[in-house]
Amino acid sequence: MNCDLCGEREAQVLQPHTNRKLCVPCFLEDVKSRIRIEATRLGIDRSKKVLVAVSGGKDSFVLLDSLREFLDPDNIIPFNIEEGIEGYNRKDQADQLIQLTNVKSLIKTSFRESLGYALDQMVSGASSSGLKTSACTFCGGFRRKLINDFARKVGADVVVTGHNLDDEVQTIIINLLRGDLERLVRFGSVPLIVSSKFVPRLKPLRRIYEWETTLYANFRGYSFQDVECPYMLRRPTLRARVRELLYQMEFKSPGVLLRILDTFDQISMNMRSKLSSALSLPNCIICGEPTSTGRTICKNCELLIKSGLLDSPLKSTY
Ligand SMILES: [Zn+2]
Ligand SMILES: [Zn+2]
Repeated sequence: MNCDLCGEREAQVLQPHTNRKLCVPCFLEDVKSRIRIEATRLGIDRSKKVLVAVSGGKDSFVLLDSLREFLDPDNIIPFNIEEGIEGYNRKDQADQLIQLTNVKSLIKTSFRESLGYALDQMVSGASSSGLKTSACTFCGGFRRKLINDFARKVGADVVVTGHNLDDEVQTIIINLLRGDLERLVRFGSVPLIVSSKFVPRLKPLRRIYEWETTLYANFRGYSFQDVECPYMLRRPTLRARVRELLYQMEFKSPGVLLRILDTFDQISMNMRSKLSSALSLPNCIICGEPTSTGRTICKNCELLIKSGLLDSPLKSTY
């Protein structure tokens, strides 16, 4: 059976959401061109310095491999964070990724180096203080902080991450289930700038399915270990349950994830015009970084205080 696009080569990939059968070169080209369209819409092609957050996984490979085709490689700065999780280290993979994609050498940091504690230490500090906070809460918050800190440090005008369509729709559903309106509104196709201290974070893979990034990386010969984080395996999160539900829906009704994303983007844009003026964020009195409306201490600093890893400045006021 021949490819639906070129009509010449043998088709090897069925793309359920378009109902097309594609050959390998046409499939790779299709993914790349959709990333390029999204990147152009987001203005990434006009950025002077792009900090690319790379984990070493398949998504970061696809991200770098497609960005370097239309960005000057000198403007791409890959950045990798080692969280410090026993038995889960993808630093070597990140190095392999840099070699394979032929971009600039990697900037690296770790939780321990930049924050003073590895993720494992934060989690054990939390549990010995009786705090029921999941590792993902620590990890997500501090990763965001480090990415933003380094983006400012190197003078990047945007940060680019490898979140794919599956990640994006999971987050939308989680915010809906939690009733988190402020996050829902901030989470749109274009980031809402709520503080001058935030470097805009853009996601050019947000319309690419996860199965597509996996196949893409495989066809291009990137050998990645797709191991799940040990914390995720130990304690299945709401995200894992939402992921399973979305897989079933997509299987029965191909294209449903794209439709959820498009519908949500429209809702978010409409809500923004009403809410954006109220969304200018205050700064944390400890670290000086932006924090949510109504807070004086940011979530990251609060987590460290509650885990017994940081002294509260409020204690000495009486
Ligand atoms: Zn073809
Ligand atoms: Zn803080």
